[in-house]
Amino acid sequence: MSKKAIYFDINRCVGCYTCQVACKQENDLAPHNIDDAVEQTSPVWRRVIEVEKGEYGTESINYISLSCMHCADAPCVIACPMGAISKNKEDGRVLIEQSKCIGCRMCLQICPFGIPQYGENGLMEKCNLCLDRFQETGKEPACVSACPSKALRYGEVSELSRNEQQKAAAKLVLETAI
Ligand code: SF4
Ligand code: SF4
Ligand code: SF4
Repeated sequence: MSKKAIYFDINRCVGCYTCQVACKQENDLAPHNIDDAVEQTSPVWRRVIEVEKGEYGTESINYISLSCMHCADAPCVIACPMGAISKNKEDGRVLIEQSKCIGCRMCLQICPFGIPQYGENGLMEKCNLCLDRFQETGKEPACVSACPSKALRYGEVSELSRNEQQKAAAKLVLETAI
């Protein structure tokens, strides 16, 4: 089985938050109460972030849809003292095994993107690349299906050329520079 990933194109994202909502619906996550906006008490596995740049009068806004990157050398795997996080060598998914998790949040501390979420049961959780959905239906992830502007793309890592990834990364850095 080949490694799968989701690629995000900042140039296509319109900041509609549909991916964030679709993820919550797919994974039965509690609605994001507006009153929780500061404390964020309900888990968010995919988050849309607003980034402003420029000066008053000429400013512009970009949106970044962020979820687990299922990193190649995932630091969360190494940081977990209970061995509750592992990377599947076949499909590339980084998964949390909640039966081993003690909720110490070491994974959240070490993740460069602040991805792992403190769940309502006191244990950590995060994007699993819609594992159940894939196993049951073979469909692509819910956030990818729901995006109206095709800013999210799901596929085999090897399908995308190194050149394309480098261009996308360079663009992302450029667009979000404040
Ligand atoms: S939780 Fe963070 S460190 Fe772990 S795989 Fe996802 S993005 Fe990488
Ligand atoms: S792949 Fe599935 S679990 Fe991951 S962010 Fe998208 S909808 Fe959520
Ligand atoms: S659904 Fe697509 S366009 Fe809308 S915020 Fe998410 S990534 Fe951006």
